[in-house]
Amino acid sequence: MSYPRESIKETLLQRGVSRRDFLKFCTLMAGALAMPKEVAGLIDRALASARRTPVVWLELQDCAGCSEAFLRSSNPTAAEIVLDVLSVDYHETIMAAAGKQAEEAKAATIKAGGYLLVVEGSVSLGDDGVYCCIGGRSSEDLLREAAANAVAVIAVGNCATFGGIPKASPNPTQAVGVMDIITDKPVLNIPGCPLNPVNLTATVVHYLTFGALPEMDKLHRPLFAFGQLIHNNCERRGHFDAGEFVWAWGDAGHRAGWCLYKMGCKGPMSFHNCPTVRYNDGTSWPIGAGHPCIGCSEPGFWDVPTYEPIKLQDYLPPSSYPQVGSEAQKPITAEGAALTGGAVGVIVGAALAFGYAVMTNRAKGISPEVNTKEAGEGEHEESHPE
Ligand code: SF4
Repeated sequence: MSYPRESIKETLLQRGVSRRDFLKFCTLMAGALAMPKEVAGLIDRALASARRTPVVWLELQDCAGCSEAFLRSSNPTAAEIVLDVLSVDYHETIMAAAGKQAEEAKAATIKAGGYLLVVEGSVSLGDDGVYCCIGGRSSEDLLREAAANAVAVIAVGNCATFGGIPKASPNPTQAVGVMDIITDKPVLNIPGCPLNPVNLTATVVHYLTFGALPEMDKLHRPLFAFGQLIHNNCERRGHFDAGEFVWAWGDAGHRAGWCLYKMGCKGPMSFHNCPTVRYNDGTSWPIGAGHPCIGCSEPGFWDVPTYEPIKLQDYLPPSSYPQVGSEAQKPITAEGAALTGGAVGVIVGAALAFGYAVMTNRAKGISPEVNTKEAGEGEHEESHPE
């Protein structure tokens, strides 16, 4: 099989992407990779010489949400780089070819070698793999064949990385992630439900620029995207620190953008760059839209009750949750807020976060008393949306 001779940069320019937009893309990628903006020049030069890399994209036990997320991204970024500019020789959902013709294209790519294998969906091992077969072959069989000559395997979405929803208890299909099957070559995990397309694009750009996969954590996740707790970069963190929580959907705190910890937010235990990269080309993200994080970048998240608060002491040092003690299990009262404000005001720098939050809320005309009223007598259970 022969591949186009144009470099990735040439291909993008031929497609009408301006040089200015291309440079913006390189800068965006440097930022996504958590590298200094000077690296953008390096990416520019690498993409100017890098030839289009063949990609085989397998879909196993999944909902196609990761492919959907990719197709919905715009600009000369994620979708074009990975789906157009690279040579996607096989993708069950979006390829024009079907049946024998499609299988032949995949076989030719596998035989030629040197391709990236992207896998979406979990592998079904139960009852000889009968629960997920394509063309009469099991998902495990198809994965092993496609991985054999790949230079690297990139698992996308929580299903392919950690088993996802198919693996949720009682796991009737005996679903597993890609790294449970492929152990003889590099497997990089980009979890999420769905994955963030920027993270896959940045991984591919890193591979093309530096000739290697990015540095990973012990769960095979790239550190540039999964090296920080969501909680550490969350825009509602000031409210967490000030003890300002949402207690019920639509209450005053919810309308004001307060912390969603009491509504089951898994941000304090989840590693992901959602708060900085966001979804839909940086438009928004779950917490930004008012929903608690469900921890979709972590293994087994489907077996963790979505709206049940986690035990902070299992994940964070005590110094990071000053307001979440026994007293803070209650919604804030006006007196409590005043007292806390006074006390914190005496204590050195911690007053800044609290004072800022209180001032912001006053400016918005939000009274903590309204929150108390809506939440009943202060017991968390009573204020639960159910
Ligand atoms: S608990 Fe959730 S909403 Fe609150 S600051 Fe942490 S990540 Fe943000």
